This record gives sequence, structure tokens and C-alpha cells, in this order.
Amino acid sequence: MPIIAGVDIGNSTTEICLARIEAGQVKEYLASSIIKTTGIKGTTANVPGILIALEEAVKKSGLSMSQLTEIRLNEATPVIGDLAMETITETIITESTMIGHNPSTPGGIGLGVGMTVAFAELGVQAAGEKVICVIPKGIDFEDAARTINQAMDRGVDVQAAIARQDDAVLIVNRLRRRIPIVDEVTLIEKVPLHMLASVEVAEAGQTIKTLSNPYGIATVFNLSPEETKMVVPIARALIGNRSAVVVRTPQGDVKARAIPAGFITLSGQKGKTDIDVEAGAAKIMEAVERVQPIFDVQGEAGTNVNGMLERVRQVMSELTAQPLADMKIQDILAVDTFVPQKVQGGLAGEFALENAVALAAMVKTSRLPMQQIADQLTERLKVNVVIAGVEANMAIRGALTTPGTDKPLAILDMGGGSTDAAIIARDERVFSIHLAGAGDMVTMLINSELGLNDFDLAEDIKKYPLAKVESLYHVRLEDGTVQFYDEHLPPQVFSRVVILKDTGMIPIPADHPLDKIRHVRREAKKRVFVTNALRSLARVAPTGNIRHIEFVVLVGGSAMDFEVADMVTDALAEYGIVCGRGNIRGTEGPRNAVATGLVLSYLGKEV
Ligand code: ADP
Ligand code: MG
Repeated sequence: MPIIAGVDIGNSTTEICLARIEAGQVKEYLASSIIKTTGIKGTTANVPGILIALEEAVKKSGLSMSQLTEIRLNEATPVIGDLAMETITETIITESTMIGHNPSTPGGIGLGVGMTVAFAELGVQAAGEKVICVIPKGIDFEDAARTINQAMDRGVDVQAAIARQDDAVLIVNRLRRRIPIVDEVTLIEKVPLHMLASVEVAEAGQTIKTLSNPYGIATVFNLSPEETKMVVPIARALIGNRSAVVVRTPQGDVKARAIPAGFITLSGQKGKTDIDVEAGAAKIMEAVERVQPIFDVQGEAGTNVNGMLERVRQVMSELTAQPLADMKIQDILAVDTFVPQKVQGGLAGEFALENAVALAAMVKTSRLPMQQIADQLTERLKVNVVIAGVEANMAIRGALTTPGTDKPLAILDMGGGSTDAAIIARDERVFSIHLAGAGDMVTMLINSELGLNDFDLAEDIKKYPLAKVESLYHVRLEDGTVQFYDEHLPPQVFSRVVILKDTGMIPIPADHPLDKIRHVRREAKKRVFVTNALRSLARVAPTGNIRHIEFVVLVGGSAMDFEVADMVTDALAEYGIVCGRGNIRGTEGPRNAVATGLVLSYLGKEV
């Protein structure tokens, strides 16, 4: 009785399905295994990983390698993706106008508006004067509080204060009237004096409302519509802060400069078009759809985009030992994003969220290297190795083992580097497509939008829900419910936002509130997977109309995600499509579709 191993080499994982065949039927599925792919998909560097995965599956089923009749590989046309980020705006402060920084403990609550005056000048202010006191380094908080109280007693309307040291709370606690105070302003000596300014501090756990709103700033400073336009970058930079200072200085001081990001040239079946990266993701994707299927993408020389596209080509050319000129970029996915970046000219290390466009690109090459993988395996194992067919076709076969499915059926294989769609008609004909952008891009977006600089942490944020540790015995889950613990939690997670991994809680080092992290996570998933689900299904749909698809099964690692499947299902429901996560062989969940399909393709039915 033949024993067949289906081997699916993916960008991220290599999966095995081992089965015993009898009389043209799968008699028994023996084992599955999954390991991280070694090397880049479709190159001989995959061989060590394949061997480990095979050994594991063989061992699980109590067999030995020599009992394998045949190993069937997917025709993994090497698809590599690369990701790049192109920042398209830059906030520059030319005069010292803004302190948008977020000290951990500002003092007081509310909004104060007045003229900035030096601490030393407070004594000479006239009664009724609205002022904001600027407290330099070296002033003791007791002295600061006393002097402000005296001024208040004289009838000076001290509206707020800006301080160098981390003592806002200590000062406020000693004042007769509570005022908002922003502290830890490193370059306090640069805060311009005798200018109209505004200080806002929100309640703990809240964010500012007035200075993060252009109309709020316009109200405070009595701005004209023209001037209001100018303060948009300030307002944007302050969104999400608990405290902020805005000083009105004479001239256009904060600029949002557009950084020329360069053009990309898309060549496709329906023509050739240039598109400015600065135009944003929606416009880029419109252009992609206009000319698709894409034959190649070029970037304007000397730009970052070009650098990235060339890098993809270069890596692929080296890995496959094929000429650089043959490396064609066959799809790109652009997503609008933002990156926290240090504001030039800021006074307290302020960050602004700059607009950026993230790009995933994909190169496909010939199947040549697959044969090399097959040859190496045969040599090592003395087993017959067959390259069995196009991945998407195999995935469909595997997906059809999900209970309750039947032809016609479409699948969405959401992996790490690419999103693949395929459709099988009643007459068994299959159409498929590979598109750039999947789980890795989501991780990249989370990593950069939260400024984490830690890919593994971003990957964990993507995969697991969040909670806020409210006491040593309970956490509040992201849906608002509370979970109690019998034993106290480790002290280092106290009061932090944590990732609830199966192996325990991981505190997130950055200072972002839970809602923000959750929002970034969900938006990243939507922008990648909903976009790619719609465009890939439209490409394989009969007559190009996505409404002609009835059933969609979601497979691949990203279909395991705890919220992606629901997001895609929701989006497709608008088109009357029934969609759900696959359950391969009724046991494997959305995993192992391709490997299972490879085993089934041995049975001789042509797909
Ligand atoms: P490929 O076929 O390209 O090898 P996979 O189907 O193995 O890809 O999917 C890999 C992707 O799935 C990665 O981006 C990984 O982060 C993601 N992934 C794996 N498990 C989960 C999970 N539990 N939740 C969310 N994403 C997951
Ligand atoms: Mg895959």
C-alpha cells in the first residue's frame, strides 16, 4: 500500500501530510507536521527544513523514511516579498512653537490660555493678567508653588505652567487653585516668552481634546481659516497625547513638508502607468487594478521605493541563479500607514505621526529551482520525488476536505508573504492568483506604527489579545470583561498593557494605551487582508465579478488569526458570499490544505 507524503513549502512554514493509500482512496491519514521554512521558498535552502518535517511526520506515524512510496512537492514558484516604508511627510518646527511631548506625570487638569512669562517675572505681573508661567531648571517645587500662589493671591490669572523638572504633580498639589502643568521640557530655555500659549492636560487615562483639534487651536488663538490650515500638522502631532503645549509665535512655524517619494511605473497587460507614491495607497492600488495583471514594476531611480524593488530583484536573482533582468515584480500592495518620527526642531523630543506608504512586492520566477530541491531529496532519501502541481490547485483540493464544502468553491490562502486565491468550477477547471501582502506585512505595520522596533513583539501583538493589568489579582480584557487570578501576578506586569499568550503574559514596553494598540492591530489586519481578499477574489471570479462567487474557504496560517477570518467574512458578506475558516480533513483547522491536496492529487483525478 503506497504511503505518500505531501510537502507544502511556504514562505513561512513547511507542512507535511502523510497518508496511506489503498485502492485509489486515502485509506488513512497518518500524520501532519509543521516547521518553520528554512531559507527562501522554492530554493534548495528549503531541503534541511523539509527533511526535519518529514522525519517528524514519519516518526509520529511509527514508520521509517524508507517506507515512503513518494514525496509530492508543491510547485512552489518562488515568491518573495519585501516590505518597505516610504515616509511622505515630515514635521519641522522652525521656531519653537510646540511642545507636544507626553511627560508621564503632568499635573492638574484642563486647558489654560495666556501669555508665557518667565518664572522670575511672575512677581511683576499685574492683577487680571492671564499668564502661563515657565519654570526653569533648579527651581524647587515648594518655591515654585509658593511664588505661583502669591501671584494668584495678588489677582494675577495664572492659567498654567510649563516646567523643566519632573515635578508638575508636586507643584500642583501645593497650589490654591489647580492649573494644568506640563513638565520634563528639556529645552525649557527655548520656550518663547511673551507669546500667547495654551497648555492642556487631560485626566489620567484620557487624551487631550482641544489642542489635538485644529478648530480647538483656532478657537484658543482666534485663528483665521487660512491660519487654521497651517496648524493642522500641530493638531495631528498632538493626537493621543495626555498633555500638550502650543505657543503662538509670529510666523508659520510648524510645517508639514511633503517628502518627494518618487514615482513607480507599473507595466501590465492593460498598459503602462506612472504613479506618484505620495498619492497614497488608494491611488496606487487603483493604478494596479487598471493595468493588471502586472508584468513588472520599476521605481524612479534614486528613490527609496526603487531601492526596495531592486533589492527584491537582486535577492531573488541570487537565490535562483537566474539573471537579474528576468526578475519581474508581479504584484505590489500599497497600504497607507504612519510612523512616529522625531519632530525636527522640537523642544522635548516630540514625536509626530508622519504619513507613510508601506509596500509589499512580489517576484515570481520559473520552476527551475524546484527540480533541484526534488533532486536533492531523492538523493538523500532514495525516495521518488514528484513536483505535483500548482499550489493554489492543491490548496483547493485540500480545502474541499472541509466538511460541508462542494464545488464550485473559492479559497483564500492567507500566508506570510502572499495572499493566494483560487476558484474551482463544477467542471473542475481552476483559476488562481498570487498577490503580494499577507501576515508579514501586518506585523510590519504594527511594528512601525507603534514604534516598537521589535518584530517578534509585533508578531505577538498580532496573534494574541491584549489586557490591562489593573491589580495584582485581576486584569481587564480588551472586550472590557474582568478576569481574576487566585495567585498574584508577577509584579513586573502590574499596571501594564500585556499580551495574553498561552505561555503567559508579556508586558508591552511602549507607553501606548490598550485601545491604541488594539486599533493599530485591527486596522493593519483590515488594510492588508480585507483589501487583498477583495482584489484577489475579483481576479479569479467568473467574469471578474466578485458577486459571482458563492462560497469561500479561508486557509493558511493567517486564517488562524483570532480576528482576521471574521473581518474577511464580514467584508465578503456585503457581496453575498458565504465565507468561513477551513477545517482541512475535518481535523486540521485552516492548516495543511496544500499538503493534503498534494496527497489527494496522487489519486489521479486531474485538478
Ligand atoms: P506560508 O504558506 O507563506 O508559509 P503560512 O500559511 O504558514 O504561510 O502563514 C504564515 C503567516 O501566518 C505568518 O504571517 C504568521 O504570522 C501567521 N500566523 C501563524 N499563526 C497565526 C496565528 N495563530 N494568528 C495569526 N497569525 C498567524
Ligand atoms: Mg502557504
